[in-house]
Amino acid sequence: MEKIIVCIKGVPKPGTVKVDPETHTLKRESMELILNPNDRPALEMAIRLKEKYGAEITVISMGPSNIIPLLKQAYALGIDQMILLSDRAFAGADTLATSYVLARAIEKLSPFSIVLMGLKSIDGETAQVPSETAGLLGLPSLINIKELKKEDDKWIAIRENEYGEEEIEVESSLLASVSPQAFDYLRPPSLKRLIEVKEKEPLIWTASDIQAEPEKLGLKGSPTQVVDVFEKKLEMKGTILEGEPQELVEKFIEVLKEKEIIKI
Ligand SMILES: Cc1cc2nc3c(=O)[nH]c(=O)nc-3n(C[C@H](O)[C@H](O)[C@H](O)COP(=O)(O)OP(=O)(O)OC[C@H]3O[C@@H](n4cnc5c(N)ncnc54)[C@H](O)[C@@H]3O)c2cc1C
Repeated sequence: MEKIIVCIKGVPKPGTVKVDPETHTLKRESMELILNPNDRPALEMAIRLKEKYGAEITVISMGPSNIIPLLKQAYALGIDQMILLSDRAFAGADTLATSYVLARAIEKLSPFSIVLMGLKSIDGETAQVPSETAGLLGLPSLINIKELKKEDDKWIAIRENEYGEEEIEVESSLLASVSPQAFDYLRPPSLKRLIEVKEKEPLIWTASDIQAEPEKLGLKGSPTQVVDVFEKKLEMKGTILEGEPQELVEKFIEVLKEKEIIKI
């Protein structure tokens, strides 16, 4: 049976983000988290592969315990096993240190056929984690795929690039990030599994469980340094036109002419 691993990330619900002014890191514990929307297609692809070829799906996420409800959401969609990678030593991780932890956990789950991730998170938005994790594991890295199918012992991936689509043939095991546009339909959670998951808890793996080297973790293992974090001030420069409707239309046409948007 195939073994598929899906990495999901909890991202702040827009509007609830707080930054620690001392460390310049996000205060993850206090903010409301949602499942990274770009990870839904990765979960959907894993479940479709399970339906087609038979598979056991493990979902993993690195972060604090407020990610547990998101792992449970994934379970309700059709995932088999939930693992939370959580340890104080992971705090302050940049993409490399995050990828290192994910790679150690994925290695512990060996043998596996496929690792799926989202294309990018909606908060960090670097899209570096899939390639970095693949690099650390020595796996072929396929970015932005929209389809994955098995032919004999090989996997065929359809990948989107800026010019169109390409077909790539790879052998197991592989790591792929899934295109946010891969599916027209994403299944809702099943009621039966929503009830079932109330009785379930994820496995919690710490740094020692994945035999991680302490100097590669968290802030210590992060070559990226955030030197400053600031709120973007929006300076709105608008013109308010006043008057009766006919007058307003005339004024507006004048503005468009001045800006050479229209020529009458
Ligand atoms: C210096 C520095 C300090 C930071 N400190 C912290 C901190 O203290 N706490 C903190 O939470 N973040 C911290 N971050 C942010 C953290 O590095 C990123 O959240 C993380 O590395 C993922 O990067 P990204 O969001 O750009 O992911 P992307 O590369 O855009 O994500 C692509 C895909 O990778 C997978 N993925 C990404 N992150 C995870 C994850 N954590 N678990 C499972 N799958 C994942 C998902 O499938 C996702 O769709 C810090 C970043 C920097 C640069």
